[in-house]
Amino acid sequence: TPRVLSGIQPTGHLHLGNYLGAIRKFLPLQDSYPCLFCVVDLHAITAQLVHDDLAAQTRSIAAAYLAAGIDPERSIIFNQSRVSGHAELAWIFNCVARIGWMNRMTQFKDKAGKDRENASLGLLAYPSLMAADILVYRATHVPVGEDQKQHLELTRDIAIKFNNDLSVRIEALGLGKPIAMGEETVHGYFPITEPIIEGPATRVMSLKDGTKKMSKSDASDLSRINLTDDSEGIARKIKKAKTDPDSLPSEEAGLQGRPEADNLVGIYAALAGTSKAAVLSDFGGKQFSEFKPALVDLAVSALGPVTAEMRRLMDDPGHIDAVLKAGGEKANAIAEETMRDVKSILGMLQD
Ligand code: ATP
Ligand code: MG
Repeated sequence: TPRVLSGIQPTGHLHLGNYLGAIRKFLPLQDSYPCLFCVVDLHAITAQLVHDDLAAQTRSIAAAYLAAGIDPERSIIFNQSRVSGHAELAWIFNCVARIGWMNRMTQFKDKAGKDRENASLGLLAYPSLMAADILVYRATHVPVGEDQKQHLELTRDIAIKFNNDLSVRIEALGLGKPIAMGEETVHGYFPITEPIIEGPATRVMSLKDGTKKMSKSDASDLSRINLTDDSEGIARKIKKAKTDPDSLPSEEAGLQGRPEADNLVGIYAALAGTSKAAVLSDFGGKQFSEFKPALVDLAVSALGPVTAEMRRLMDDPGHIDAVLKAGGEKANAIAEETMRDVKSILGMLQD
């Protein structure tokens, strides 16, 4: 049975990359699948243990989900630490995954920086917890930005190894089922999850450096458009965005080697719901001085209603907390079933 899960860390202000690469993609999925949308507070402490106000950050991600149109009656919205199955399954996955797999993760290398020995063990094990977030609900589809592709591959590797290493016990307990793996069908307990990474904005880049991903944790606020920015803020940041001196090309191939131009055209295309090629057929040959104001208008009109609704929701933290609590209860019911199965598969005694 198909099921969708995705999560966002409460590590700072949500930005245009989170919105275009993730949140906005969640909406159409809730019409076709049962969905869970999580605020991953356990992930938030991997890079930094102490946060100014983790509770407020958590509520603001939940508010963004709601403001973007996720319906808590249909989809499950909750924060990760409420459901103990995430951390419990992550431990088991720490014993499935190999140290070498974790050492190869580019996010770990980027976030740990030069002083790798001094990074938290949690930062290294991050992908194992992410695999648990997904597989504790036996989720089959995960909409994410391009930066999470490698972690999704690792999630598949963990599911495959668990299914293989424990195949005899899974079958003996009658817990195996047919599992789609690409074209093939295999037998196992955990599904082999497919990432959903599509469209022109799967990797929105920093406005200050077209080779760096736009991130919540980037020190420069000018590098990103926050979902809390007002229209003047959005206009100022787009005007200051780094560009090159040439005019826009008429064809997509002309964006090669021009990361900043490529990024702004991609953002425009995603906001307008069209392709880069279509944007360039309108703006090819035009200067950035003409393109940027059009991008400002588009960004302001697309983000304005969402940010206004987020602000309105944040005025009523009680409502958000109630949504997270109710969602946590529903999520927990699914996670408990998985944990019961996994413990029997491993031979752990339970009531
Ligand atoms: P941090 O810097 O703390 O890691 P982040 O901006 O990367 O923050 P996450 O909470 O790690 O945000 O990721 C939430 C979702 O947003 C994920 O699906 C991720 O792939 C997506 N995402 C993050 N940054 C971008 C981006 N620049 N472009 C497209 N999608 C993005
Ligand atoms: Mg991230």
